[in-house]
Amino acid sequence: MLKVEHIGIAVKDFSQSISLYEKLLNTICYKKELVASEKVNTAFFIQGETKIELLESTEADGVIAKFIEKRGEGLHHIAFETNDIEAEMQRLKNEGFILLNETPKRGADNKLVCFVHPKNTDGVLIELCQSIV
Ligand code: ZN
Repeated sequence: MLKVEHIGIAVKDFSQSISLYEKLLNTICYKKELVASEKVNTAFFIQGETKIELLESTEADGVIAKFIEKRGEGLHHIAFETNDIEAEMQRLKNEGFILLNETPKRGADNKLVCFVHPKNTDGVLIELCQSIV
C-alpha cells in the first residue's frame, strides 16, 4: 500500500458538514459526487497529500445511514492507495482478511475500490483504492 489516500467521515447533514470542513481545513470542497450504487453522496477536500471524504446517505436504508444509526457520525473508513488493487486484494485474502467485494468496484473520485471487513482490522473499515487511468 502506498499511502493514506483519504479518510472517510460519515455525516448526517451534507451541506452543513461541507461548510464545517471548509472552515476547519481552510480549503474549499473541490468535488461532490453521487455514487448511486452505494446510495451515497460524497464531498472531497484535499489536505496536503491526503483527502477528506464526507459521506452522506441518499436513502434511509443506505450503508451510511445504517452506520450512523449504529455508531453515530464520525470516522467511517481509512483508504489506502495501491497501484495494483487486485494483487493487494489477493495478498490480504492470503493473510486471512475478509474482503467485502470479490472484485474491485467503481467508487467515487474515479477510483476502483475494495473494502476490508472491520472484524479483522481491529474495528476499522479499510478501503483499498486505485486511480482509474
Ligand atoms: Zn472512501
